[in-house]
Amino acid sequence: MIRGSCLCGGFQFEIDGRVSDLHRCHCSVCRKATGAGGIAVLATATKSLRWISGPEGIREFQRESGWSAAFCPTCGTPAPRQHPNGKIWSIPAGCLDDDPGTRVAEHIFVGSIASWDAVSGGGAEYDEWGPEHESS
Ligand SMILES: [Zn+2]
Ligand SMILES: [Zn+2]
Repeated sequence: MIRGSCLCGGFQFEIDGRVSDLHRCHCSVCRKATGAGGIAVLATATKSLRWISGPEGIREFQRESGWSAAFCPTCGTPAPRQHPNGKIWSIPAGCLDDDPGTRVAEHIFVGSIASWDAVSGGGAEYDEWGPEHESS
């Protein structure tokens, strides 16, 4: 069981099932969305995630490009969001309370990494999208 939550407790969830390796995105959009060097996400099957509190309060922001992010409107913590294919949840690794037991598989948009940041944590590196497109 892997638990996750936001800073204020507005959303809490449990994952009971397999999770993917992590994908880290270093693009400028993810930097703004997180206020950090980018975001790390992992995925789990739709049926593997169970909400304990929320998710009705979670807000979503979508750009014209189709890029979107979910977050807690009270504390701002990035939140899990259902992939448009309806089959998986895309989960920001930073909101996990437990070790997911997986490691970084790939870094994407390394070509636009912040001047003050560096790739770390291992995994393949791609200047833009990696071969797996679904988890930015
Ligand atoms: Zn919150
Ligand atoms: Zn990104």
